[in-house]
Amino acid sequence: METSFGFRTVPVEEKQGLVNRVFDRVASRYDLMNDAMSGGLHRAWKDAMVAWLGAPRRPRTVYRVIDVAGGTGDVAFRVARGIEVRGAVTVADISPEMLAVGARRDARRLRPTTPCRFVAANAEALPLEDRSHDAYTIAFGIRNVARRDVALAEAHRVLRRGGRFLCLEFSRVDVPGLAALYDAYSFRAIPAMGRAIAGDAEPYRYLVESIRTFPNPGRFAAEIERAGFGAVKVRLLSGGVAAIHSAFKL
Ligand code: SAM
Repeated sequence: METSFGFRTVPVEEKQGLVNRVFDRVASRYDLMNDAMSGGLHRAWKDAMVAWLGAPRRPRTVYRVIDVAGGTGDVAFRVARGIEVRGAVTVADISPEMLAVGARRDARRLRPTTPCRFVAANAEALPLEDRSHDAYTIAFGIRNVARRDVALAEAHRVLRRGGRFLCLEFSRVDVPGLAALYDAYSFRAIPAMGRAIAGDAEPYRYLVESIRTFPNPGRFAAEIERAGFGAVKVRLLSGGVAAIHSAFKL
C-alpha cells in the first residue's frame, strides 16, 4: 500500500521513518519556527481548540486527557492550565527529540496545577487501556501519521463512551484571493524561513506539501465518522488556513 509523504508517493511502511527524520531534525527550533511561520497565529488556534474542549475546571472525578503527537507540549500545557484539580494530561509523541524539548519546557512551567507526562508512542498503537480517557486531542499531528484510519481507531479505543475527540489541523483556504497569496507564502517564504532560522529548508517543504495532500474538512469529517465517532463538527480558522474537528465517541 502507498501513501503520501508531501507530494511524493511512498510505501506506507516508509512514511513514518521519513516523518520521524523531519521532526527529530527540527525539534530544537520547532517552537521558534511555529511563531515565525504563523506570525504567532498557531497560539490562537491552539487556544481555540482548548477553549472548545472546555475541560471541567474542577472535575469531581479525575479528568484524563491524552494529547497525541503532542510534540513540545503546547496543547498539553494549555489543557493542564484549565484543569484545577485531579486532572492528568499525557503527551504522546513518536519523536524522542520533540518529547525532550517538551519535558524541558515542562520543568520550567510556573505553578503547574496539573501534571503532564511525556510518553514515546505511535498514534497508531497507544500504550493506553481501552476506554481510559475523557478526551483525546491532536494538533498538527494527524497529517503526519502513516495510517490515519488506524490512528483514528486508536483514538476511539482509548476514549470512554461520550469521550471527546478534537483535532486541529491545517486545512484549505476558502477565501478568494487569499488562496493565491497563501500559496506564494507557503511555497516560497516558508522554506526560505526554514533555511534562515532552522538552517534547513527541506522539512518545511514537507510541511507545506503535506498540508496540500491532507483531505478537505468534509472528507476528514467522514473519516472520523467511519472510525465510530458521532456529532462531528468543524470550525474553520483564519479563512480556512486551519480547522478544528470535534466529535464524540458514541
Ligand atoms: N502538537 C504539537 C503542536 O501542535 O505544536 C506538535 C505538532 S508537530 C507539527 C507534529 C508532531 O507529530 C511531531 O512532534 C511528530 O513527532 C509527531 N508525530 C508524527 N507522527 C506520529 C505518530 N505516528 N505518532 C505520534 N506522533 C507522531
